[in-house]
Amino acid sequence: MTGKVVIKDLLKKYGKITVINKISLEINDGEFFVILGPSGTGKSTLLKLLAGIEMPDSGEIYIEGKNVTNLPPNKRNIAMVFQNYALYPNMNVYENISFPLKIRGYGKKEIDEKVKYSAEILGIEDIMYRKINEISGGQMQRVALARAIVRDPSVFLLDEPLSNLDARVRFAARGELKKIQKKLKKTFIYVTHDQAEAEALSDRIGVLHEGKFEQIGNFREIFEYPATKWVGDFVGEFPMNFISGKGNFEIGFRPEWVDLNGKDFECVAESSSRVGESYYVFGKVNNIYDVIIKYNRLVEPGEIIYFSIEKFNKYLNGKINKL
Ligand code: ADP
Ligand code: MG
Repeated sequence: MTGKVVIKDLLKKYGKITVINKISLEINDGEFFVILGPSGTGKSTLLKLLAGIEMPDSGEIYIEGKNVTNLPPNKRNIAMVFQNYALYPNMNVYENISFPLKIRGYGKKEIDEKVKYSAEILGIEDIMYRKINEISGGQMQRVALARAIVRDPSVFLLDEPLSNLDARVRFAARGELKKIQKKLKKTFIYVTHDQAEAEALSDRIGVLHEGKFEQIGNFREIFEYPATKWVGDFVGEFPMNFISGKGNFEIGFRPEWVDLNGKDFECVAESSSRVGESYYVFGKVNNIYDVIIKYNRLVEPGEIIYFSIEKFNKYLNGKINKL
């Protein structure tokens, strides 16, 4: 029960606009749950509702089995890490990490032990007496996390905590974060618009679209069996292809799910490009369906290529047959 989070029919409006549209969800103790969605879909709002920074119009939130819906942030046993870190620039690293304990009246010795413990987990023992404006973005991110860890919350809420880091640091930080979560064995609820991050970090992902979860599952389920066309389009390096077949049904398939020895479909190439070691052809099937096909070489515009679909999303086929 410790770090379990239960959300029931949560509704949040800003004026007339519904930002969180009756969401229900259960997140397990110790789970790394990622909320994935494009900008403006309500990810931060949902996290703020969990934190108690925003109040819902209706619905309930339970943390550790307790109804916290009307409780302020400091009564929820959660810690939140923001994108901009919200560190105190005039304090040094030690003072920043110890701050939450200081305002809660902890003694000097206990503070020192807890700060040392979290600094060790984050590997920042050597920068404890540096000012915030003297450390790098990656280090700031760790300090922000250490400041969350020091309070020993049962749930961590993280809002795009890596998005201010440059690509190389971000990649390393992602791996570290996953290790830290494993070590802490705590519930992490993590917001991102970056699907590679979601894939690398998550036990489960909730794909948020216009204030609702369009699908909840692990990355593989979401990638291979998108519950809706929108998810198929949003998740994946390239959007899923959709072609209607006979009898009013529609099949969805990824660019990689083709058999180039087959000749069921004819595609007129419009362009092609190399991505890493692979080639992709962008073209049209039956003059109407835009498709992206993983191919074995670059092609000229106007060239005709043939393919069959090796594997397609049967679930989608069964679900969405009226489009
Ligand atoms: P995300 O984090 O997914 O980018 P947000 O939760 O920040 O999305 O915002 C969702 C929607 O709610 C956006 O349309 C945003 O403009 C609106 N919104 C967020 N906060 C407020 C606020 N305090 N007042 C009015 N509208 C808001
Ligand atoms: Mg946001």
